[in-house]
Amino acid sequence: MTASGVPEGSIPVLDHGFVRLDDAMASDLSVVNAARVSFARRKEEIEPEDEGLIGFLLRNRHGTPFEHNSFRFHVRCPIFVMREWIRHRWSSFNEFSMRYSQASGDFYVPAAEDVRQQVGKPGVYFFEAVEPELAQRARTEIETTNEAAYATYRRLIEAGVARELARTVLPVAAYTEFFWTVNARSLMNFLSLRNAETAQREIRRYAEAIESLFAERMPLTHAAFVAAGRTPP
Ligand SMILES: Cc1cc2nc3c(=O)[nH]c(=O)nc-3n(C[C@H](O)[C@H](O)[C@H](O)COP(=O)(O)OP(=O)(O)OC[C@H]3O[C@@H](n4cnc5c(N)ncnc54)[C@H](O)[C@@H]3O)c2cc1C
Repeated sequence: MTASGVPEGSIPVLDHGFVRLDDAMASDLSVVNAARVSFARRKEEIEPEDEGLIGFLLRNRHGTPFEHNSFRFHVRCPIFVMREWIRHRWSSFNEFSMRYSQASGDFYVPAAEDVRQQVGKPGVYFFEAVEPELAQRARTEIETTNEAAYATYRRLIEAGVARELARTVLPVAAYTEFFWTVNARSLMNFLSLRNAETAQREIRRYAEAIESLFAERMPLTHAAFVAAGRTPP
C-alpha cells in the first residue's frame, strides 16, 4: 500500500479509486497461435508478419482468436460507476460485500472542473463546466449529503442494525471494490463504449486506465484496435 491507501502498482482514478492489473494470461502471441491452429501451426515468438495478421483479424472481425487470453483487474470505484460496468456481461465480477464488511466512508466528490451541466437535448447533448461558484456549491452539497448519510449508517450499525440494512442509506457515490476478469475481445468492446466521448466522464477515466494496461500487455492487438477506428472484433 502507498501512503494514500492505494495498492502498489495501481493507477489512481478519481478521488479515492484505482485500477490495478492483478494478473493476466495475455499476449499478442495467443492471438496469432489461436488463428494458426486452423493450419495446425504454432509459434513460440511473435514475428514481424504477425502484426499484419492481427490487423487482418481485427479489421475483418474474426473475433474468436482474441478470446484466448484473460485479464484480471482489481478496481475501486463509486457504486454508480460499477453499475455501468457490470452491464458488460461477457466478463466476471466479484464485489466487496457491504453485508459482511462495513463501508469505508469514502465517497466520490467531483473536482470543481468536473462539475458540469448538460447542454442540448437527449441524444444530442454535451457537457460544459459550470461557473466556479456553482461548482463549489455543488461540491459542498454533495459532500454534506455524503457525510450525513455515512453518519446515519454508522449510528444504525452502532445501534445494532444489520450492515445489510444499514447500507441502504448510502448514496451511489460510495466507493466499492471488485475483481473483473475479461478477455481481450470483450475488453475491446468495453473500451469502444466506455473510453469514448459518449461515455460518462467518470467511467471513462477508469476505461483510460484499463486501456493503458491492455496496451502494455497486448501492444499489437491494441494498435490494431485503434487503427480499426476502435471497432471491436
Ligand atoms: C453511452 C452509453 C449509454 C448507455 N445508456 C444505457 C441506458 O440508458 N439504459 C441501459 O439499460 N443501458 C445503457 N447502456 C448500457 C448498454 O446498453 C450495454 O448494456 C452496455 O454498454 C454493455 O454493452 P454490451 O452488451 O455490448 O456488452 P456485453 O454484455 O459484454 O456483451 C458483449 C457483446 O456480446 C453480445 N451479446 C451479449 N449478450 C447478448 C444477448 N443477450 N443477445 C445477443 N447478443 C448478446 C453482443 O454482441 C454484445 O455487444 C449504455 C451504455 C453506454 C456506453
